Amino acid sequence: MKKVVVIGGGAAGMMAAATAAQKGCRVVLLEKNDKLGRKLFITGKGRCNLTNACDMDGLFGNVVTNPKFLYSAFYGFDNRMAMEWFEKAGCPVKTERGGRVFPVSDHSSDVIKALAGQLKQWKVETRLGVRAESLVTVPGEEATEAGSGGMDCAGAAVGVKAAAGPQAHKCRMPEKAKAVAGVKLADGTVESADAVIVAAGGLSYPLTGSTGDGYRMAAENGHTVKATYPSLVPFIIKEGWCGQLQGLALKNVAISLCEDGRKPFYEGFGEMLFTHFGVSGPLILSASSYYAGRKKKGAVRLHLDLKPALTAEQLDKRLLRDFEENGKKQFKNSLGGLFPAKLIPVMVMLSGIDGEKKTLEVTREERQHFARMIKNVEMTVAGTRDYAEAVITKGGVHVKEINPSTMESKKVGGLYFAGEVLDVDAMTGGFNLQIAWSTGYLAGSSAAPRKA
Ligand SMILES: Cc1cc2nc3c(=O)[nH]c(=O)nc-3n(C[C@H](O)[C@H](O)[C@H](O)COP(=O)(O)OP(=O)(O)OC[C@H]3O[C@@H](n4cnc5c(N)ncnc54)[C@H](O)[C@@H]3O)c2cc1C
Repeated sequence: MKKVVVIGGGAAGMMAAATAAQKGCRVVLLEKNDKLGRKLFITGKGRCNLTNACDMDGLFGNVVTNPKFLYSAFYGFDNRMAMEWFEKAGCPVKTERGGRVFPVSDHSSDVIKALAGQLKQWKVETRLGVRAESLVTVPGEEATEAGSGGMDCAGAAVGVKAAAGPQAHKCRMPEKAKAVAGVKLADGTVESADAVIVAAGGLSYPLTGSTGDGYRMAAENGHTVKATYPSLVPFIIKEGWCGQLQGLALKNVAISLCEDGRKPFYEGFGEMLFTHFGVSGPLILSASSYYAGRKKKGAVRLHLDLKPALTAEQLDKRLLRDFEENGKKQFKNSLGGLFPAKLIPVMVMLSGIDGEKKTLEVTREERQHFARMIKNVEMTVAGTRDYAEAVITKGGVHVKEINPSTMESKKVGGLYFAGEVLDVDAMTGGFNLQIAWSTGYLAGSSAAPRKA
């Protein structure tokens, strides 16, 4: 029986372990925490948005980095299959606004229970509180790559010469310098393995166990690790007035991000929140996916349109009407119909108009300038918050060095990667977990021997 060791008992690792075991491998799952799925437990605010019920275009369209790499993974185990998998594993699911899929119970613990149930059913040896230290490799012979030549050669064992015959050349991969032979644990012992799946996650929310061990192991074995950044993360804003708005949530606003006055590299619409350090909320987290890794950090400006449904002219007419109706009121007291109370002092300050003066005395130029400003409140992005507040890590193991049809390393025979450790990331909405399920499933199936 082929022995597969999986490093990491998170979403991708549990899926990979259950799949490899179901397909006939002896599987050992190593998790350094004393519990499985610590991060999964906190996903979706404890409800776990486990996937998205969109169509295939939606699935690919919501992957920000390297969507094409995920072609085989998504087609081999898509969102429908993931939903069915969880239903069958005893976790019924439901679909909410925006196609977001949750367990019917609204408890992420039920997603973890379903995965743990499958690990038990397929007799995976789960070892908790065990930290994988490094990979053990041996010089590679003529390593073959599972699945490299298509369906008919899936699962060829690593280190075994490709069978002679017409298919042989199809299955043969360039020789790999080494092949994996096991995993060295933190206590110094070695868990031997015919294949190893690294599913150790990224760097975000390190308290859940994701501390970058997978990147280190990949790099130690000749893989390129693309620079990592916190992503799906709040922005730190330079302008001090943001802090005055702490706690203020805005709905139906539009934002764009620009570098040095150039064309926007991100435009979005939705909800955002002011915090003591800057801005957060769903719209900002999405924007951060496109900010991470930009070279000229600090020169990025965030433009906020507080009234995206109105053109500047329509807004000016509205202001004119409001100002006429409230002519005797002070300017600062005439804006209640336009903005939440907390925002008014900041808007008055930014407008440069004397808040004490009567609304009737506001000049046409001042009013038009104010209308333009409402549609373009500018902020300077000074950076993002740290990994401790980032939903995901951008960057990771370079996908050019991984076979997309199997998730196997092109450098080390028998070594597979799955989940956030790879240089793939997606928007919120269940897409990051779908990446974990799909790549975990593909790595688990590819590591398993093919059926005769
Ligand atoms: C607050 C929060 C909410 C989120 N909500 C959602 C959501 O609703 N929907 C969604 O799609 N995505 C969500 N995500 C993202 C999603 O959780 C991740 O994309 C996903 O968990 C990645 O899975 P993974 O298995 O690759 O990594 P992880 O889930 O991080 O699992 C990696 C595991 O490996 C273990 N490990 C690490 N190193 C070692 C080692 N050396 N030895 C042994 N074990 C090791 C870790 O302890 C950990 O358990 C959320 C993330 C956060 C932080």
